[in-house]
Formats: sequence, structure tokens, C-alpha cells
Amino acid sequence: MDRAIGSIAILGGGTAGWMAAAVLAQVLRGTKTTITLVESAEIPTVGVGEATIPPILDFLRLLEIDQGQFMAATEGSFKLGIRFDDWRVVGERYWHPFGTFGPSVDRRPFHHIWHRLRAAGDDPRVEAYSLATALGDAGRMAFADGQGQGPLGGMRHALHFDAGLVAKFLRTYSEQRGVRRLERRVEGATLKDDGFVEALVLDGGERLAADLFIDCSGFRGVLIEGALKTGYEDWSDFLPCDRAVAGLTVRDANPPPFTQAAARPAGWRWRIPLRHRTGNGYVYSSAHVGDDEALADLEREAGKLLTEPRILKFTGGRRRAFWNRNVVALGLASGFIEPLESTSIHFVTSGLMKLLDHFPDKGFDAANIADYNKALIAEYEAARDFIVLHYQPTRRDEPFWRERAHAALPPDLADRLALYRGTGRIPHRPTELFTELSWFYVLEGMGVRPVAHDPLVELSDLSQVREGLSGWRRRVAEIVQAAPSHDAALDMIAGRARPAA
Ligand SMILES: Cc1cc2nc3c(=O)[nH]c(=O)nc-3n(C[C@H](O)[C@H](O)[C@H](O)COP(=O)(O)OP(=O)(O)OC[C@H]3O[C@@H](n4cnc5c(N)ncnc54)[C@H](O)[C@@H]3O)c2cc1C
Repeated sequence: MDRAIGSIAILGGGTAGWMAAAVLAQVLRGTKTTITLVESAEIPTVGVGEATIPPILDFLRLLEIDQGQFMAATEGSFKLGIRFDDWRVVGERYWHPFGTFGPSVDRRPFHHIWHRLRAAGDDPRVEAYSLATALGDAGRMAFADGQGQGPLGGMRHALHFDAGLVAKFLRTYSEQRGVRRLERRVEGATLKDDGFVEALVLDGGERLAADLFIDCSGFRGVLIEGALKTGYEDWSDFLPCDRAVAGLTVRDANPPPFTQAAARPAGWRWRIPLRHRTGNGYVYSSAHVGDDEALADLEREAGKLLTEPRILKFTGGRRRAFWNRNVVALGLASGFIEPLESTSIHFVTSGLMKLLDHFPDKGFDAANIADYNKALIAEYEAARDFIVLHYQPTRRDEPFWRERAHAALPPDLADRLALYRGTGRIPHRPTELFTELSWFYVLEGMGVRPVAHDPLVELSDLSQVREGLSGWRRRVAEIVQAAPSHDAALDMIAGRARPAA
């Protein structure tokens, strides 16, 4: 018997469905495997995923899609990080930027030096050592120069885009590579004796059989939950926001090259600059604010919405397994962590990369599936803990925030906080999405300070360290001075297609 997967059915044509179709079409080109995507115009997509993180460029590279062409087709803009406003107390702000942060000194990462400088009475500033932050504050854009050491060498960026246009772009890409699209409503699925999915049941009773099914049906999880009853782990105790109201406002005159995440009385508000419009939303806890009040708050802060406001309801959490038998769930069908750090679309990519690393044959080896789930669950839970961290050290006074400050923490997060407070150390786990540096930015931004720092940084000569750092600061200022505005960089990329850097 031929053990190779001969047919793949993807259920859902939102961002996740078309990302899956594009990747599988690209990787399986030249094979006999058929790929069919089923979507229904009667069931709308969520379509508000607008901010990403730097690995989105790896996704484009895998698909051999030119970054400039992609941005032009999706009204895309550049993202250098996230600016958090009013999270610890109203009036304070901090950055979670992408890219290099200061030079390493005697092989110690710069954030350890930071603690030493502070202990010595200096007042180091993130914007002096993070080029992305300095550029963001100035509304300018620069690209990695690929030259290793200096501030430009480690520059990284991500993209903002219109998620609806992304799905459209990837649909064309996928169809050109042989993906068949069916515009049908899926009513359910038939199962084989061993509990594996045999076929999708389409409206009118027709069946679509396949070897492997990718469930991208959104929050419903038509296959992973509806057919296979995989179960859902509810994280509301850690992340109680369960709704969002979203809509577009007019384009900013010079759109900032970053996502803004501003704390609000019962959650937080995003502002995402696109080329043609600005995306806005208020993510909130329905136990603390009503829908009308949330919309009024959003319009007060963001301006009148040009589009009909969309209220989206969700429960933070994940499926007990992302891959169950011959069904792999991606996107919202697999789970949801509120979009504070733009992780959802990334987890679609991450799930797809891991699927390629664990690509099955018709035997569907149980250990292979278990390994896939283990890797993705670990990544997902670490991301959840990172999001919870954004809330816990707050000093805000509204009931929602007071509850967050006193809520129980996931055990691993509690351990990390204890380690950091005592030593300034952040565990380095290479398989995690967010690096030590990301954790540092949020800890520092939220005013969590360690009582001690890495003793090895004491071995460096402080006056030499300070001298080296002044050179770095000067270089950051020079680059910002010479950099084009974000708008000019967008014009540049629209005119001259730049390869995914
Ligand atoms: C408020 C909010 C803000 C977000 N912001 C971001 C962000 O900034 N960055 C980020 O990375 N992510 C963000 N996300 C997440 C992001 O929107 C999703 O991860 C992404 O759009 C993928 O969605 P999806 O394709 O899984 O689901 P959906 O968009 O819901 O698509 C589901 C698809 O399944 C089809 N379907 C469902 N049932 C059936 C059926 N029975 N028959 C046929 N077809 C069916 C639908 O027609 C649709 O095509 C956000 C999410 C929310 C809720």
C-alpha cells in the first residue's frame, strides 16, 4: 500500500486556512498530493489580525513572496515593536521593540549590564540602546545592514497588514499552485471505525474524503471539537478579557512604525497603522464593561469608526491537543491568546513549520503526533505566561486592574518572577517564542526590578563599559537622524520591491 498522504482537505478560508494552503502547496509541489480548501461565504472570517512579529518574514521567504509586493497588495506597513501606554500607571509608557538591544560586554548580554549601570547610579534609557525604539519614537524606519555588530546589524521588523487582503493574496498564490477551492458549507464529518475523520459532509450531502484534514474553521473548531471532541482548556482565570470591539478609522498622516497597546479601564486598546486606514480595537472583560461603553471608549480614544463596529467574543485557552488523529487544528480553531503580542498569526506559521517537521504518512504514528503537540503546547503556554506578565505588576486602580494585580499566576510564571527579582536572570529556553530580552522589556517597563544582578558583569571595567556604550548611543542617534520617515520608507518599498530582509 502507498503510505504517502495523497489528499489534504483544509476547512476554512480565513488567514489560517489560506496560510496553510499556501505553505502546503509550496512544499508539496511536484508531488501527487491534492489539496482542497473548503470555505463558506455565509460564515464570515474574523479578519482583524493586523499585527505580526518578525518571523512573518520567514513565512514570506518560504513562499518566495517578495516583501514589497506583499505589502503593496495588503496595505501593509512596517512594525518595529509595540509601545505600551498606561499599563503600570496612567501616564507611563514603555516599549517592547524588535532587534538588538545595546552591545554585549565581555559576552554578557546587555540587559545584565543595564542592571549594573543602574546599581552604579546611572539612568540608562531603552531608547538610547534600542534602535527600533528610537526610530519608533521618531516615526522613522531603517533596515538591517547585515553587518553583524552595530545597532543596524541586529535590526528586525515585522508587518502590519489588512488580514482580509492577506487571505485574498494567499488564495491567488495557492490557486496558482494547484489548490482547489470549494465554496460550500460543511455540515459535519463522517468518522471511520478507528475514530479518524473519513470525509467532510458538505451542504447537499456530498462528501469530501481526504487522508489529512486541516481544521481552520475558526473558533467553532468544526473538526477538532465538533467531530473529534478534543476538549478545550479554558484560561479565563489568567486572561479574563473575553471580548473585543474593532473597527477602522482614517489613516494617520505619518503612520507610526509600531503597534500601540494602551491600557484602558477594563482591558486595553490597540492602534495599528495601515497604509490606507488605521485598525483599532478595545479588548475587554465583559464582566467589567458593557459592549456599548466599550465602543464609546474606543471611539473617544481612536476617533469615529468608518466601518460598522465588530464585536468579537472569545475564551482564552487552547485545545487539549492541536493534532488529534488525522486532524490538525490551526488558527482560532486551535486556541486563542488575546492579541496583545500579536501571536495568533505567528502560531499558524509555527504550527505549519512543526507540521512539516512531523509530516505524517497514512500510518499517523502516535508518538509523532504526541511530539508535535508537546512542542506546540510548550510554546503556546510560554506565550500565555508572557501575556499574563503584562498585567500582574500594574498599579492601576480600576477594579479590573486591581484583580489582575492580585490574581494567581501560572506556576512557571511565578517561578520566573521569583528568579528575576532575586538575581536579574531570565531563563533562556531556545524553543520559546519570546526571548529573555522580550521578558526584560516588559519586566523593566512594568517596574519590576531585581535586588541583585549577574556577578560576572562586575568583572568588566565600568569606565571602559561606559565609554563603549557612549559610542553605541551616538551611533543610534546618527542612524535615526539619517533615516527616512516611515511614510517615505513605505513609498520606497512600494516603488522598489525589497526582498524579505
Ligand atoms: C479581536 C482580535 C484581534 C486579533 N488581532 C490579531 C493580531 O493583531 N495579530 C494576529 O496575529 N492575530 C490577531 N488575531 C487573530 C487572528 O485574527 C486569527 O488568528 C487569524 O485571522 C486566523 O483566523 P482563522 O483563519 O483561524 O479563523 P476565521 O477568520 O474565523 O476563519 C474561519 C474560516 O472557516 C470557515 N468556516 C467555518 N465554519 C465553516 C463551515 N461549517 N463550513 C465552511 N466553512 C466554514 C469560514 O467561512 C472562514 O473562512 C486577532 C483575533 C481577534 C479575535
